[in-house]
Amino acid sequence: MHIGFIGLGHMGGAMARALLSAGHHVTAYNRTPDKAEPLREAGAALVREPAEACHGEVVITMLADDAAVEQVVARMPIDLDGTIHVSASTISPLLASRLARRHARFVSAPVLGGPEVAAEGKLFVLAGGESTWIDELAPVFSAIGQRTLVVGDRPEAANLVKLACNAILAAVIESLGETLALVTKSGLVDPGTFVDVALATVLAAPGFQAYGEHLKTYRFEPGFKLPLALNDMELALDAARVHAVPLPLVSLVRDHLLEAIATGLGHSDWTALALVAQHAAGMRTSA
Ligand code: NAP
Repeated sequence: MHIGFIGLGHMGGAMARALLSAGHHVTAYNRTPDKAEPLREAGAALVREPAEACHGEVVITMLADDAAVEQVVARMPIDLDGTIHVSASTISPLLASRLARRHARFVSAPVLGGPEVAAEGKLFVLAGGESTWIDELAPVFSAIGQRTLVVGDRPEAANLVKLACNAILAAVIESLGETLALVTKSGLVDPGTFVDVALATVLAAPGFQAYGEHLKTYRFEPGFKLPLALNDMELALDAARVHAVPLPLVSLVRDHLLEAIATGLGHSDWTALALVAQHAAGMRTSA
């Protein structure tokens, strides 16, 4: 298929490569053109304007947040002339529903899995939108993902589920970070042994493995940048306010992410939540 791809960050760059590997033709745009050059070497055509990436059967946007998506969408034609706009970014359900009104054929497809998973084409795709369009997108989704989970025919449903899943992941990272501080400070157990036990038992689910491995080796390079994780917790809390649903754990994690940023960890992966727990326990840490 001819696919436009807008946003070649940690995730978008890896996803665009997976599409090229599957034999698709990719026309790509990135705000900072230099960062797109490696993709040209991988076979993509690079363009200087988002609108120029909108002429294929599909255009995928994979951008940082709501503001980035709004700025880019303002530079895309309103009439996409049959092109399906697939929004893969983690954005608010409210923005997704606005985009669905703006673009005649719009599908929300936020993803679960980090850049390493994206590079292998093994993401989980959470799809929301018209089922016929989701069916048309099967060759795209099978190139980037191991499985497509159709959430419903309203695009914003997929964004809400994505935020809920990230809230669960954040709570697990928070909990693992706190208990790791306990185990480490006690001096009784090797921290790596503790994480191995947790991953083999109470956290024996694929989604947690990568985070556990990062914590064991104190690898905090992103991955998933802490300010983006903060953004997701804020979006989850916004949605919770709309529906009058208290989310005490998400509020706690939001504050710990803020604390991490305030103490200079803004360039780290969100697993650096573990360092906030260690700091609270009076432990010296190195990020
Ligand atoms: P990233 O590496 O920071 O990339 C962000 C992308 O957005 C870059 O291409 C950046 O362009 C672009 N961008 C930011 N602001 C922009 C603006 N105002 N106008 C135009 N382009 C703009 O982030 P990422 O980790 O790839 O995440 C992308 C999305 O995927 C986010 O919504 C995130 O929540 C979601 N996600 C991330 C992960 C993960 O583990 N990393 C997993 C699942 C979902 P420049 O290169 O010019 O800065």
